[in-house]
Amino acid sequence: MDRDACVELDRQDPLAQWRDVFECPEGVVYLDGNSLGALPKATAQRLDHVVREEWGTGLIRSWNTAHWIDAPSRIGDKIARLIGAEPGEVVATDSTSVNLFKLLAAAAKLHAGRPTILTEAQNFPTDLYIAKGLVDLLGGAHAVRVVERADLERALDDRVAVLALTHVDYASGSFHDMPRLTDAAHRRGALALWDLSHSAGALPVDLNASQADLAVGCGYKYLNGGPGAPAYLFVARRWQEALRSPLTGWMGHADPFGFEARYRPAPGVRRQVAGTPPILAMAALEVGVDLWLQVDLPAARRKSQALGDLFIRLVDTIDGFDLEIASPRDAALRASHVAVRHPQAYRVMRALIDEGVIGDFRTPDLMRFGFAALYTRYVDIWDAVRRLDHVLRSQAWARPEYARKLAVT
Ligand SMILES: *Cc1c(COP(=O)(O)O)cnc(C)c1O
Repeated sequence: MDRDACVELDRQDPLAQWRDVFECPEGVVYLDGNSLGALPKATAQRLDHVVREEWGTGLIRSWNTAHWIDAPSRIGDKIARLIGAEPGEVVATDSTSVNLFKLLAAAAKLHAGRPTILTEAQNFPTDLYIAKGLVDLLGGAHAVRVVERADLERALDDRVAVLALTHVDYASGSFHDMPRLTDAAHRRGALALWDLSHSAGALPVDLNASQADLAVGCGYKYLNGGPGAPAYLFVARRWQEALRSPLTGWMGHADPFGFEARYRPAPGVRRQVAGTPPILAMAALEVGVDLWLQVDLPAARRKSQALGDLFIRLVDTIDGFDLEIASPRDAALRASHVAVRHPQAYRVMRALIDEGVIGDFRTPDLMRFGFAALYTRYVDIWDAVRRLDHVLRSQAWARPEYARKLAVT
């Protein structure tokens, strides 16, 4: 394997033309699309139009004329096509954390006789914090039960209201067997809630084929919605009338402009919207989602697996620097990023970023490298691993400034 072979792989790549759709700054190898997706070139133009025309000229009329008011449902219906859901089962709204809160609270209320939210110790921190915050609020008998991954199925008993898991592990990139665990939850009478933040746009997801009940996910990672983009939530059609959002805001009311004295939930998943949608952010999210609707998803999956395989193969050739692949080596068991363990992971990543290779760090000792299939080239993998080799060999990571932690890593 050499650099020319990577150039040749790029020449044969059926997805190669997608790179042009994104801003890819010169001299940067961007391997962090799993944390913040790259900027689609169309986004700036779209936002300019929404700001100047829809807001500036249309003013408040644009809620009707530019269909702002439909944005949560319209964008939700588009996201539904990426995650195996039906129109009317998804809305784009709020953040992933807030959506988790709403759906966990609704699930706990629906199964009021069951006190447990079951999850796993390696779940994403916000998922654990939100669940714990909710049970504190509920008081009484409610509890979050946090078990190791291997013990999840055994821990499912008839006290569990909802099994709440993140599909793809943010650290290792391994992923759960969604149909199997959903079925295990159902056999115990529990609901299954899936966090798809690291899944949509990274690997195929089919919520309805898995019989999933509830799901949430993030708009700013693989979906390229922009920093802090609105998130989405899914409620399977069969639960929509039974589930009540705890955030009974007017935008989830059956008649928001009826200004009724009492709350009446909107039919369907729309009741899960609480307040006024952030239209500028929604517009940016919609550009990213519209792009994804044109992508050959199985081809994107194949390419990100091939990029990950190549990355692992090249990292394996770096000898003597305590690097350890902390993700499944089998691409069939891995989502779209690879974690590499190193005792000085934070400092190595900082030095690597200064060398123009942007990944990220997850405490205590993981460097993560994401392989967003639409804009990552094979030659980027080659260059990234060569620069990693250089940072280790030159000890560029040992500079004292890299010992100081930045706010965001
Ligand atoms: C990124 C991510 C989130 C983000 O939540 P926010 O509310 O958008 O900050 C939540 N859960 C998982 C699993 C994530 O990967």
